[in-house]
Amino acid sequence: MAKKFTSSEGNSERDQALGMGAKITRRDFLNGVALTVGAATTYGIVPLEMWAAAAADPQPEAQNIAGYYPPGKTGLRGDHLGSFEAMHKVRDGAFWKDAPKPVDTGESYDLVIVGGGISGLAAAHFFRKAMGDKARVLILENHDDFGGHAKRNEFRTGGRTILGFGGTYSIESPAPYSAVAKALIEELGIDVPSYPKYVSKDLYRSLGLKPRIFFDKETFGADKLVRNAVHSGGDESGINDDAREADRREFLKDAPLSEKSKQDFQRLLTKEKDYFPGLSSDEKKARLARMSYAKYLTDTVGASDEIVKLFQAFPHPLFGVGIDAVAAQDAWGLGLPGFDGLKLDPTPGKGMNRDCIRNDEAEKYFFHYPDGNATITRLLVRQLIRAAIPGNSATDVVLAKADYAKLDEPSSSMRIRLNSTVVKVNHRGNPASAKEVQVSYFAENKLKTVCAANCILACWHVVIPYIAPELPEAQKAALASAQKVPLLYSNVLLRNWTAFQNLGASGIYAPGMYHTGVNLDLPVSIGGYECTKKPDEPIVVHMMKAACKPGRPAREQHKLGRIELYTTTFETYERHIREQLARMLGPGGFDPARDILEITINRWPHGYAYEYNSLFDQFWLEGTETPCQLARKPFGRLAIANADADAYAYTDCAIDQAYRAVQELKKQ
Ligand SMILES: Cc1cc2nc3c(=O)[nH]c(=O)nc-3n(C[C@H](O)[C@H](O)[C@H](O)COP(=O)(O)OP(=O)(O)OC[C@H]3O[C@@H](n4cnc5c(N)ncnc54)[C@H](O)[C@@H]3O)c2cc1C
Repeated sequence: MAKKFTSSEGNSERDQALGMGAKITRRDFLNGVALTVGAATTYGIVPLEMWAAAAADPQPEAQNIAGYYPPGKTGLRGDHLGSFEAMHKVRDGAFWKDAPKPVDTGESYDLVIVGGGISGLAAAHFFRKAMGDKARVLILENHDDFGGHAKRNEFRTGGRTILGFGGTYSIESPAPYSAVAKALIEELGIDVPSYPKYVSKDLYRSLGLKPRIFFDKETFGADKLVRNAVHSGGDESGINDDAREADRREFLKDAPLSEKSKQDFQRLLTKEKDYFPGLSSDEKKARLARMSYAKYLTDTVGASDEIVKLFQAFPHPLFGVGIDAVAAQDAWGLGLPGFDGLKLDPTPGKGMNRDCIRNDEAEKYFFHYPDGNATITRLLVRQLIRAAIPGNSATDVVLAKADYAKLDEPSSSMRIRLNSTVVKVNHRGNPASAKEVQVSYFAENKLKTVCAANCILACWHVVIPYIAPELPEAQKAALASAQKVPLLYSNVLLRNWTAFQNLGASGIYAPGMYHTGVNLDLPVSIGGYECTKKPDEPIVVHMMKAACKPGRPAREQHKLGRIELYTTTFETYERHIREQLARMLGPGGFDPARDILEITINRWPHGYAYEYNSLFDQFWLEGTETPCQLARKPFGRLAIANADADAYAYTDCAIDQAYRAVQELKKQ
């Protein structure tokens, strides 16, 4: 699937037309040097030399200086400069060689939590509930904001604030939330069933806007925007079968596909053929579990390569890889076509990814805030440290301005310290009997230590072997296998969305482009925040890229994608965005130089928790202990949380695992 993108790099006239010189965001040019993939270290991550030129020792910011407000920053966010360099040095064995002399802060806590994402914040909440308000808790987070993947992006234009989600999009999960997770959501005041009150569900459809697909000339021979009969690219609810059929006809008429591919497409959607006659449903599922959907399409169904290209990026939003690395059984679960004739028993097959198992109750449990689940983190912070975020409800929080200076006050029993990378956690004495752990962290170019009776590692599991060397080797290997899925969420503030209106597009699936998903903001008005409802008003457009390398095993794709995201400059990201929007929306009157007001790139080289994949993970089908079960075992005074702890990239998992970790500490 490798292809070349039209790029304006080195073409100043084209750059000018794209608006590359326009005054928009704070650009981070430092972080992009031409790097090549080298040898991996013990735990399969990329060595330091590759980052060294990029790192250039940025100064972390102090969270209590006046004006400190990370959600308002644009430019390169997500894993921003300053957040990862210290940890990468630890990983590569370079940190301790020239580490500064440790400074003992003299601080002592009942619990130190490593990682201020939803899991870390929820762990603080559960711990305080269990131990009382006086329990002293410190959360150490390496980013400049709390929330982890649940990141708030704020834009200002014409005296108005426009919100975007930089990561975690919504309360949703393939399986129903557990009693624990649901209780926390309710305790925070979020009334999930009230969601329809806030969303203007029919806004785009009422303006004639529909999901579209963009065929690009490098992949399909022509740039063309067509009605999407493949991928929703937005809200499909309320569309009946007749409308679907009409869409399909329009798609087949307009798509720049060969006649053979059009016939294949029609056959896939309508013909019921049993490709595995004589096998039972279970046997068929077992076969599908070990075959990629791409192979199923070409080798079993006999569809053209063009059809593979058409569906290639369909699973990107869920899996972060394409159909070359998604099992055909999972594709069946996702509702992709070609399986009707197999007459499979509708129950999930062995080894099926949890994302692909339909559940009505879970589907109804959905809530999207304009900043995504950053609102959950803000509500948690408000509960933990009341002074930090004003207000009283799960609606007024949307516009409430966080006061970062209140997060780490010495007088408070609950403290959140940002820009602080934990580099070592060790027991003082024998882990089996020690009464204390020492936590060392790097902040403001100093190595500092605190001590605590307990520690919860709510950070990414790949990090843990490096910072908790006492753990047993088998557990460290299990932790290291949790390769995160790299993702790019680009939020682009546009002057208006008239081009979308002119083209009748609410969302665009672009299987051959840099960003494979482009969507107008989900229109939600809540707590005094008003979403954009008129096409001549500014809007945030969300663009999504899965940094994958088709044709390789999933974990390898994730590793290479991670390198790509860390080493791409803001300028390159920006150029891709401008080129792509110009090509897709130009015929609707879009001018990137005129219409793009701001860009925030949320890069997540360590994105989704790795979910087991029946194509590559033997143990999942064989039913033995999964790596995450071994990885999350408590050790001495350490407990282990994070969504990685159940290999499940969802907020409810982050909460459930925080709860379990706290229960384990309580048993000590
Ligand atoms: C782009 C994206 C979109 C998503 N969308 C959804 C969605 O719509 N719904 C959903 O339910 N889930 C979604 N998820 C999954 C999401 O990961 C979980 O919902 C949840 O936010 C994970 O929380 P966590 O605390 O387990 O991990 P994280 O949010 O990753 O938090 C862990 C924190 O630990 C920090 N850390 C790591 N190492 C160190 C160190 N050495 N010292 C200090 N801190 C450290 C990290 O920087 C991070 O901030 C999404 C994930 C991504 C990446």
